[in-house]
Amino acid sequence: MPARSLDQIVSLSKRRGFVFPGSAAYGGLGSFWDYGPLGAELMRNVKDAWWKAMTWDRDDIEGVDCAILMNRKVWQHSGHEATFSDPLVDNKTTKKRYRADHLLEAQPDAVLEKLFLLYHKSQIETGKYTKEQALEWYPTREAKLALIRQAFCAAKDRFGIYNDLKVIDPATGAPGDWTAPRSFNLMFQTHVGPVEAAPGTEEELASRVYLRPETAQGIFMNFKNVLDSSRRKLPFGIAQIGKAFRNEITPGNFTFRTREFEQMELEFFIKPPQFLREGEKTDEQWHAEWVDARYRWWISLGIDTSRLRKRAQDKSELAHYAKATTDLEYLFPGSLGWGEVEGVANRTDFDLSAHSREVPEADLKRLKLEANKDSVTTLDYFDTEAKARYIPWVIEPSAGATRAALTFLCEAYHEEMVKEPPQAEIEALKTEIDAVIKNADKKKKDAEKEKDPAQRKHDPVAISAFQAALAEAASRLPASLMEIDTMLEDHAGAQNLEPVKKLKPKVNKLAEDCVRVVLKLHPKLAPVKVAVFPLARNKPELVDIAQRVSRELRHFCKAIYDDSAGIGKLYRRQDEIGTPLCVTVDHQTLEDNMVTVRDRDTMDQVRISLEQLPHEIRRRLQLH
Ligand code: ATP
Repeated sequence: MPARSLDQIVSLSKRRGFVFPGSAAYGGLGSFWDYGPLGAELMRNVKDAWWKAMTWDRDDIEGVDCAILMNRKVWQHSGHEATFSDPLVDNKTTKKRYRADHLLEAQPDAVLEKLFLLYHKSQIETGKYTKEQALEWYPTREAKLALIRQAFCAAKDRFGIYNDLKVIDPATGAPGDWTAPRSFNLMFQTHVGPVEAAPGTEEELASRVYLRPETAQGIFMNFKNVLDSSRRKLPFGIAQIGKAFRNEITPGNFTFRTREFEQMELEFFIKPPQFLREGEKTDEQWHAEWVDARYRWWISLGIDTSRLRKRAQDKSELAHYAKATTDLEYLFPGSLGWGEVEGVANRTDFDLSAHSREVPEADLKRLKLEANKDSVTTLDYFDTEAKARYIPWVIEPSAGATRAALTFLCEAYHEEMVKEPPQAEIEALKTEIDAVIKNADKKKKDAEKEKDPAQRKHDPVAISAFQAALAEAASRLPASLMEIDTMLEDHAGAQNLEPVKKLKPKVNKLAEDCVRVVLKLHPKLAPVKVAVFPLARNKPELVDIAQRVSRELRHFCKAIYDDSAGIGKLYRRQDEIGTPLCVTVDHQTLEDNMVTVRDRDTMDQVRISLEQLPHEIRRRLQLH
């Protein structure tokens, strides 16, 4: 079973060096993360897998790598400056801030139904249809949500509705005292050159630039350059991987939503419907084909079909110019649930037209665009067969690389009981856990006596949450051993509790003895491909061979040498970071020139000759 909660992934990431909070020495910076040694490898592997699938395995896609900062006019004409904003609402009582659509998604069914019926109020009152009919047409929670999302998110004029309908604050479970939704632009601003002018003045605006919120616009800017320099004909695509920045209102869920992240985007340019020749694929066919191709990519790297779905966006979610968008969603653990990992959009000719100087009046009208007087070019294509010039359409598969890394970690994470813990030890543990929970009560009461929250040594709310979580997990022992181990280490309510400090090493020891954490990452994604160990580190003959083997393997993959613990522990450490193969050099090797190769997933061990080893490793890693 993959990860049950994001906490497991957060804890593993910290413990083993996948992801760390950014600027840690200064208490971090809201939702910025640094990738450690293993995370950096994983990220490279994710991006390489995408890059290869796009630009190596096909002959109709070119890659680019564009500047992050671009002329501000790019973002004016793409529409981002005016509309790349999210509606935000605040609860005046709790001071909690939400993206309005996320707040709606978090509502219980009853509140959602009230909002839904309010949307239909006038039609029901004027007898156009009945309440029952409306409910029948939109039977599921998701269908209702899709319908009301747009109506209630940006609606400044609907001020008061959130309060009238007692919209719940998910942080407290009680109705909030809500402000009206207001727009907040998500682009980070900075300036090119030394500027000291006040915001909004001519001087300030002239030097203002934005950190790109998507990589796509760099591709559109280079459409002609690539077309001309690579002598491409439609259909063809341009791919790019790179950083993107969004000043998200509610970042969170670890690296799922961050303010700095990486994207992997393809713009696939195709002929507009009116210029298609007999037998050529339509925009709809290309869209469907890309949805399938991208779905297969995720599956090919180990995502189970039961946790990946295609969800066609409802009309109310679509951008006005988009003909269709299908999101690929992954079932993330815990409360996060289904979340978008990639969107595949049919964006018609909107983007290239928006940046073009000469666009026919009728097209401007259809695309709701103003004539672009700033652009010095027209991003069109000369079709030699049709003898016509036109602006291509585009299909855009857009995925997050950082979100993909999180997705693969969640899917790969497994805890396996490799040894049943002795019943007596489990009983003893339960008794100690009971004592910890009781003792925490005292700390909670002490903290509550202190009226000034700033002076409190403990947070009573966090302690209560910890007690409840610990009691629940204890009732599931021994299966929850690792979970308790993580909880004692990381739970906010466990901090500074003396008995927890005493309990920690005992749980840790038992968990290490009995539970194996294994990341069943696809070999292409695994940060380390092979680990080589000598059976005894005090035997120079074994150490020599093991070091030589690891050096040889390093020619074609990430291989490491380790002799810092006993063999069992070394295997466990590699399982935890997803290393597909371990090679052990033992005394027998000195006689028969063979080593033991152990498989991460099956734990099967086979003897292989040193001569055959590189070939066998390549074969098993599917690296050729
Ligand atoms: P959402 O509605 O969740 O904010 P979006 O629909 O705006 O996302 P897109 O603009 O379609 O997202 O971005 C394409 C991909 O980029 C997403 O599928 C996701 O994988 C990734 N992505 C977008 N925003 C973030 C973010 N803040 N942090 C990490 N990845 C992101």
